[in-house]
Amino acid sequence: MDVSAALPAQLMQSRVRQALTRGATVLTANQRAARTLRRAFDLHQRELGLASWQPPPILAWETWLGSLWHRLLVDGHASELLLSPTQEHRVWRNIIAAEIAAASATASATDSLRPVDALAETAASAWSLLHDYRARHRLAAAADTSDTRAFVRWARAFERVCRDRGYLTQAELAEALRAAVAAGKISLPRELLLVGFDSKRPAQIALLDAVGGTGTQIDDLQPESARAASTIVRASNAYDELTACARRLRDRLTEQPEAALAVIVPAIDDERAEIDRVFRQLLAPEANDIAAPVGLLPYEFSLGVPLAHTPLVATALDILRWAAGPLPFDRVTALLLSPHFAPTVAESPSEHLHRAEFDAFVLRERQPLLPEISLDNFAQLVAGWRHASRLPALSRHLRALQAVMRRNASNAAERTHADWAATMHDLLEAAGWSAGSEDSSIEFQTRRKWESALDELATLDFEGNRVSFAAAFAALERIAAKTLFAPESRHAPIQIMGPLEAAGSAFDAIWFLRAGDLGWPAVPATNPLLPWRLQRDLAMPGADPARDFELAKRITARIAASAPGVDFSYARQTADGDQRPSPALAGVAIESPGSADLVAAPTDAEPILLECLPDDVPIPSPPGRALEGGAGILAAQAACGFRAFAEKRLYSSALEPASLGLDHRERGNLVHAVLDRFWAQVEGQAALRGMTTADRDDTLARSIDEALARYHADPGWPREYLDAERLRLLNLLRQWMDYEATERSPFVVKSREEQRKDVQIGPLRLNVRVDRVDTSLVDGGPAGEIILDYKTGLAKPADWLGDRPDAPQLPLYAVVSRSHPSQSGESPLPLAGIAFATVRPGTEMGVNGYEARDGVLPKAAKLPAESLDAQVDEWRATLTSLAEDFHSGHAAVAPKQYPATCQYCGQRLLCRLDPSALSAEVLAEPDPYLDPESDATDPDAAELEADFG
Ligand code: SF4
Repeated sequence: MDVSAALPAQLMQSRVRQALTRGATVLTANQRAARTLRRAFDLHQRELGLASWQPPPILAWETWLGSLWHRLLVDGHASELLLSPTQEHRVWRNIIAAEIAAASATASATDSLRPVDALAETAASAWSLLHDYRARHRLAAAADTSDTRAFVRWARAFERVCRDRGYLTQAELAEALRAAVAAGKISLPRELLLVGFDSKRPAQIALLDAVGGTGTQIDDLQPESARAASTIVRASNAYDELTACARRLRDRLTEQPEAALAVIVPAIDDERAEIDRVFRQLLAPEANDIAAPVGLLPYEFSLGVPLAHTPLVATALDILRWAAGPLPFDRVTALLLSPHFAPTVAESPSEHLHRAEFDAFVLRERQPLLPEISLDNFAQLVAGWRHASRLPALSRHLRALQAVMRRNASNAAERTHADWAATMHDLLEAAGWSAGSEDSSIEFQTRRKWESALDELATLDFEGNRVSFAAAFAALERIAAKTLFAPESRHAPIQIMGPLEAAGSAFDAIWFLRAGDLGWPAVPATNPLLPWRLQRDLAMPGADPARDFELAKRITARIAASAPGVDFSYARQTADGDQRPSPALAGVAIESPGSADLVAAPTDAEPILLECLPDDVPIPSPPGRALEGGAGILAAQAACGFRAFAEKRLYSSALEPASLGLDHRERGNLVHAVLDRFWAQVEGQAALRGMTTADRDDTLARSIDEALARYHADPGWPREYLDAERLRLLNLLRQWMDYEATERSPFVVKSREEQRKDVQIGPLRLNVRVDRVDTSLVDGGPAGEIILDYKTGLAKPADWLGDRPDAPQLPLYAVVSRSHPSQSGESPLPLAGIAFATVRPGTEMGVNGYEARDGVLPKAAKLPAESLDAQVDEWRATLTSLAEDFHSGHAAVAPKQYPATCQYCGQRLLCRLDPSALSAEVLAEPDPYLDPESDATDPDAAELEADFG
């Protein structure tokens, strides 16, 4: 770009100043251009050394119409209420909803599944087009489909309402003002200067003609033809195009820090996040720190985002949604962690950590059937937590919220919107909304915008109707979704905007992104409620491709003339196919376009300095602190030293996703609990065989009821769900009891869920629990012990073998039960067998493991050692070595089977594993360490929570 060429920005500003000096009023096509010209004027006055001056009459078109209407009202020449877009939407909505209600039993034009709000929006847009093109009188005759005829009915009803109640819509304003001008009711400036109008619609032309007819001189300031040729930049793909743009802008700013630069993007909403990411990386990498102030960025988007998407307002909407009914879990989690909800106080500065703990270990541990929770249930849960005292601010704000809700208990009752707006304000105050946030300028502006949204809600009382809280909240949500919020401009050197927004502005350099034939010009949509023929006759947007293309060419030429040089770029390859330069560039002088793709240069950011930390140096545990836990410690150490260190010494754990109803682990736990109760009553195989089928089913059914009542019955679960679960358990355990009665050799159940505390293995003192120990009977007398571990998933004896066993729980019990007397003090019987009791339907059902002599187990695997006792000795050595490794802090990142061991590990963020190594095939394999039932039988799970608490 040639910097020394004429500067369109200065040229335009000087023409505007000259017109202002002559007493002209300047009208711009959009608010952005008005802001830019006013600022340029102010800067110029300052340069002249003036201390104060009158604000210049530079107005956007809509603002000018509004000011003329206001003057008519003040002068008593008009009395209608000018509806805001929200109020107009309400009128359309009422009319359409009433028709749908009346015709719900019959087919009608509103057979469409589109919700009423969407229909009301389309109707308002059709109404606006009709008046912009001065075609209201042609509508009825042109209607030829059920949809367009429905719109004719709605439009008539809408007009009736407006006439009867004295409403005027924004769409009708230009025509109303034209009539007032023609009648001489408005005083007008001597001169109007129009800036940035690529085209004018018939209603605008008619009004300007009327204004011109009163003697006002009207000039249309169009940009000069481009004085320097533009260039076309072809990149190989969309990412390269963006990075090339960012680098060019960076170079430009380095050369000329005061330059005013613009990036123009046709579909800016879709591209916004990616542009922000790439520009942040290349133009302000220091701003990647999330705590960095926004003012650091050298660019800004001139168009705002929906107010509802800003963090502050999203939190406010969640709080109000919660007051109206249950809130989804993910939103509750977001609230818990939000600085804008129930802010922590100085006396409990670490409350945010306890909230995270509450979220991870209490909220997610519930198994509701619906993924949501009401505010009252949540408050109960908080109050019932044993560490509730660690959440003082949350508890206080929840109580305050409940108090406001109780005062407004009749949320279903109907009140005015203004009343509900006041209630919403009270609810947010009770929730401590935004009270703890640092009052940054952006938050301050967001709060002001939110307050105007509440004010706008109150304006919906214009019809005098009363609504429920839910209806008022729905209206507020819509207002927040439709209101765009952009913080006040920081006048960053790079402005990012759409092609229409750029009208009326000039820059030192422009980069027009996505100027390929697939991206520019965008094809506007026609309105489905307006007759197609009418739209085509009047060349409405989208109905006349030739006219749309001509307009796009004009806009392109205007942009090319808005800076000394403009780069138009496009990506050769896109997901939709290969691209060429947009045909809309045909009228722009282009400097010989290159044929080679522009390839993004490799990043020239500072290389990241890596620091090497050896991970094979043991990290001994702090002296005086006992390392406690269960078999999970040894399982984790066997899987990976670092994993054991992170999980069992740092107590780092991945967040469990909240599950609905019973998950597979809970179902496994239920099976354990039912079998525990059953064998507490039946005692052994002989007693089992002696039962009738009815007795056995009765005992099973009672055991199931007790287990469900004791552990798993959420009061909110419907009876049907519980009945289905009962039936599933009964069917499964009937088969299991058949197996125990017929396939196994004689036994009695010696102990169930026996726990041994504080047993020594190497330097560790562990708590060990085993599901069941049977006494094997030979000729009616005790002949040995069989240690059993219930499984509802897949398990195999090989999981106990090797230096790094995947499932060390049973070997550990075998070792400690041989070397430590039981609580009764009896010496243990010889070990007869050790086995998984796999309680699952089908061929995998069975008791499978190692036996000391033939016939103890129905499915015995070949013992790798000489005898079962020799195998126990081997396990003792293996487990002692793992205990020593853990105790001495061997925390090397050394997964047993990389990458399978790592696939489901929750410590990947800490150990810095490269996730790209985890292929999709590995993903399908189960984690040998992560036994879904391990937590059910492993005391570690409870201890982990205890230690966090
Ligand atoms: S992800 Fe792999 S290497 Fe990292 S801690 Fe887990 S098991 Fe060890």
